Amino acid sequence: MTTPTETDPAGTAHGPTADPPSGPVLVLDHVTLDRPSGRTTVRALDDLSLAVSAGELVVMMGPSGSGKSSVIDVAGGLVRPTDGAVWFDGEAVRPDDLAAWRRRRRQAIGLVHQRLNLMPGLSVLDNVALPLLLEHERVGRAHDRARAALARVGLADHASRPPEDLSGGERQRVAIARAVVGERRLVLADEPTAAVDTVTAEGIVELLGRLAADGVAVLMATHDSRLAGWADRVVFLRDGRIAERRGTGQDVVEEVR
Ligand code: ADP
Ligand code: MG
Repeated sequence: MTTPTETDPAGTAHGPTADPPSGPVLVLDHVTLDRPSGRTTVRALDDLSLAVSAGELVVMMGPSGSGKSSVIDVAGGLVRPTDGAVWFDGEAVRPDDLAAWRRRRRQAIGLVHQRLNLMPGLSVLDNVALPLLLEHERVGRAHDRARAALARVGLADHASRPPEDLSGGERQRVAIARAVVGERRLVLADEPTAAVDTVTAEGIVELLGRLAADGVAVLMATHDSRLAGWADRVVFLRDGRIAERRGTGQDVVEEVR
């Protein structure tokens, strides 16, 4: 099988039809990310490799500035790595084909931002349906799928309310419902518990764990070590690198090959 290697991280020497690594939904393969900072750049990620499979909740921990959000940004296709490769569902993300990738990403990847970005003028139902409506899905079908996502997070009864009427924890769950609406393969959550109390935080992580148990690949960043117990696997970041890995499952790209 032709896969990316140390000397050919993107596997590009074999052309775009090279066989991808099988298994994981998300693979970051020796990813380096330099971000602009004034007149220089900061190395936000430094040769970092990580894989997340369907059915797994992987928690990413580390101090502020260690690169957690940068991993989420690269995994969600919000920024392009400076070096290395990103594989999604067995396909290398090709920088020369970003439009196709963006479309695929909108369908298959759900993002829970630290700021929830819920739309105050819309009902909870429309907020959750929005990603599908933006993809020109029929309103009736989008609403059906949004209701299913709300039921998944225990908010079926709140569909017609505006998000600003809900508690912080409920709003967080609306954002998760929006991230899982439709047929998402991967859910990325950047500090989804940062703005809520401990009990609510545990409820949110438990919910992400249930999503994983249902077959979604889930990657969550947090700096709250109490939440690590819910994870199938924990990776600790420092200075843009993985300093430590705990737990079982396919992880490093070498194991995936
Ligand atoms: P964390 O989420 O763990 O706090 P980040 O990924 O946000 O870490 O940051 C990693 C490094 O990249 C830090 O040095 C940070 O200052 C820098 N960085 C993060 N986001 C940006 C950005 N949008 N532009 C420039 N530098 C950034
Ligand atoms: Mg962050």
